[in-house]
Amino acid sequence: MILGAHLPTAKGFEAALRQAQELKCSCLQIFSKSPRQWQAPPLDAAKAAAFRSAWQESKLAPLVAHDSYLINLAAPDDIIREKSIAAMIDEVERAETLGCDYLVTHCGAHLAKDCDEGSLFNDSSRSFPPGVEAGLDRLAASVRTVLERTPEARVRIALENTAGQGTCLGGPFEHLARVLQEVPSERLAVCFDTCHAFATGHDVSTEAGLEATIANLDHTVGLNNLKVIHLNDSKGELGRHLDRHEHIGQGLIGQEGMRRIVNHPKLSHLPFILETPDLETMLEKNLDAVRALRQMQ
Ligand SMILES: [Zn+2]
Ligand SMILES: [Zn+2]
Repeated sequence: MILGAHLPTAKGFEAALRQAQELKCSCLQIFSKSPRQWQAPPLDAAKAAAFRSAWQESKLAPLVAHDSYLINLAAPDDIIREKSIAAMIDEVERAETLGCDYLVTHCGAHLAKDCDEGSLFNDSSRSFPPGVEAGLDRLAASVRTVLERTPEARVRIALENTAGQGTCLGGPFEHLARVLQEVPSERLAVCFDTCHAFATGHDVSTEAGLEATIANLDHTVGLNNLKVIHLNDSKGELGRHLDRHEHIGQGLIGQEGMRRIVNHPKLSHLPFILETPDLETMLEKNLDAVRALRQMQ
C-alpha cells in the first residue's frame, strides 16, 4: 500500500523524510514554504539538491507538495489574482526544485454573492450559476498561465476537491472537470480528499455512496487523472461543507467507510496521504489504523 502523511518541515525537508521513514510511510506530502505567507526566502540550492538525492535513495514515492492557503487563482480582483498566479508559479518552481511529483492545489473562491455554489451538481443539463461560471473561467485562465510560465517543469498540478464551503470552487467534481477540459495538459491531475467529498455531499461512508462517488469522479474528471488521495475522516456531517478532518475511523465516514475506501479496487493502487489532526500524538495511530483496515478486505 502506498501510504504516507503530510509532515511538518519546520526542521527541514530531510527531517520530514526521516520522520516518514521512521513511520514506515511510503510517500510524503509537505509544504515547500509557510502556507500562510505570500513570500518566502528562495530555496537554498545546495540543501535542495541534498534533499533530492536523499529522497531518491529513500525509494519513497510519490513526493507531494501542497500549495499555500492564500493563493486564489479564481479571485475576481485582478491584483489578487496576479499575486496568486505569481505565488503559484513560485510554488511550481519550488516543488520542481525539491523533485516533487505533484503539487496539490485548491481551486480558489469566486467570491460572488449569487448562489449556493458549493452544492452537489447533479443535473448535467444545467449550467453553473454566473458567479461560479466566471470563477471557473478565471481559475482555468490562471492555471493556463501558470503552466505557460513554467514550461520546463515536470511536477504535475493536482487540483484538489474542496468541502465547497462559502464561495470556494472545487466542491463538485464538475468544477475540476471544467478546468481539465479548458486546459488540456499532461501536467494537470486530480487529488481526491475524502473528508472534503463527504462535506460536499458525496456519501463515501456507505457502500452505495462510495460506488456513486467513484462513478461520479470517473465521468467528470476521469479516474485516469486521479493521482493522489487525501485520506481523512470527517468531523462535519454529510453535505455541511465543514472542512474539519477527523482521525481515521473516528469521524462520520467511520471505520467501515474507511475500510471500503482503502480497499476499493479502483483506488487501492493510489497513494493515500493522511492529513489527520494531532500529528504529534496521533499520526502513528492513524497510520496503523489504515494498515489494519487494509488487511480487513
Ligand atoms: Zn488541501
Ligand atoms: Zn486535503
